[in-house]
Amino acid sequence: MGEVSENRRMISSSLQRISKTSRMHVPQLVHSDASTYSDQKPCDLKIPLNKGAKGAARQKNTFQQRHAIYQHSDEFYMNLALEQAYLARANDEVPVGAVVVYAPRDRGSRKLIASPQVISFARNRREEDQDPKAHAEFLAIEEASWRLGTWRLKDCIVYVTLEPCVMCAGLMIQSRISRCVYGAADPKGGALGSVYRLQDDARLNHSFLVSSGVCGKQCSAILHDYFSAKRERGKFKRKAIQIQKSACKKSACI
Ligand code: ZN
Repeated sequence: MGEVSENRRMISSSLQRISKTSRMHVPQLVHSDASTYSDQKPCDLKIPLNKGAKGAARQKNTFQQRHAIYQHSDEFYMNLALEQAYLARANDEVPVGAVVVYAPRDRGSRKLIASPQVISFARNRREEDQDPKAHAEFLAIEEASWRLGTWRLKDCIVYVTLEPCVMCAGLMIQSRISRCVYGAADPKGGALGSVYRLQDDARLNHSFLVSSGVCGKQCSAILHDYFSAKRERGKFKRKAIQIQKSACKKSACI
């Protein structure tokens, strides 16, 4: 079966119990322990200081309430996508990560009828797989479709650290997702607002909501750092080659 991806290995244990029943069965929450991420969101978890026992109890309640809200916020899911982006960078891939959240809603009222659950996540694997379509959100959507046993992902939200390209935006239309949330805009190839605007093109048969700039600074920073380091490595390599060439010439003269 080829090389098994890290993220699949990571989630396989928590998702094994789902596959025991049926693919159509609503999957379990992959990241049920949000406390793992609590130290990464100081801005979202700022609680006013209260003095005394009552104040401490109130503060604890407020913290728990805000933490519960945070667990289902866009920032929380984007931080999961960012984790995948860091994993991509560690594997010398362009650092982009994505997460798909299943959030079933009542068709009439559009109210949530179950807690949102992470059903898949993926990182960019284009170099590693030598596959032009191995973008993070593409792989995450494929996995989500497999998990739910359907190509219609109408109750799914895609979180991705970089604005999707034309190919991935096309897949979002084809898979009928309800919403896409991205972090950093892509002025050179973004298809959800920057270069194209496919999400609400009236000529297409599906439209979906888009939110941009969620954790935008972090999503941009990781890309910026990656490309800066790559340019530096390129400069260093070119300089090393130049030194080697000049050394060869000198030795030939002698
Ligand atoms: Zn793409």
